[in-house]
Amino acid sequence: MLSTLQSYLKDFSHLIFPHYCEGCGTDAIQQHDFLCMKCIAKLPETNFENIPNNPVEKLFYGRLNIQYATAAFYFSKQSLVQHLIHQLKYKSNKEAGIFLGKMLGTQLSKSEKFKQIDTIIPLPLNIKKEIKRGYNQSLVIAEGIATIFNKPIENKAVVRTVFTETQTHNNRINRWKNIDGVFAVANPHTIYDKHVLLVDDIVTTGATIDACGNTIIKSGCKALSIATVACAM
Ligand SMILES: [Zn+2]
Repeated sequence: MLSTLQSYLKDFSHLIFPHYCEGCGTDAIQQHDFLCMKCIAKLPETNFENIPNNPVEKLFYGRLNIQYATAAFYFSKQSLVQHLIHQLKYKSNKEAGIFLGKMLGTQLSKSEKFKQIDTIIPLPLNIKKEIKRGYNQSLVIAEGIATIFNKPIENKAVVRTVFTETQTHNNRINRWKNIDGVFAVANPHTIYDKHVLLVDDIVTTGATIDACGNTIIKSGCKALSIATVACAM
């Protein structure tokens, strides 16, 4: 009797608060889920968290002294991964970022390599963009990660010091010039002797992560690792 009542209540609440899969639009989805099981199964996981010398780690060789690096998913145009990152960055859909962070956090928590992480640092957004967006998407992802991969987030450890022009249309050399000197460590004691996990939404050339990561290393962290939602190298 009770379960019948609960079932009616569930159906009733679904009528009032319809809930759809962000990927395919089906309503065959639990109230608290973001994607249906079919869409989750189709996400292109890299498994890089378990692969030594994976392409994200190789990207930083000779540039940034990292311990480990991973990206949860392969990025491609017109894909669900692109849609979710777009939702997070341009459609005020923080739920997309929490979801992606949880997926990444699940991978990290199962990986032997990332067990030694002490603290998570979201890559700071420049202040102009953060005001426009209302939040830093890397922090939202970090919050999603931390719900599964139980590590503290140090959001005020690193700051951006100057504005940079949008880097989308610049070539790699110009990007280096634009990014140089942009990051500063505001609270060195939160980093000192810690294994830091630097988190960003997507890795492409790696230039921004490189600049931020080198700033963190200079302030005396024990080790630096990188985790992003997607990779598009
Ligand atoms: Zn779906």
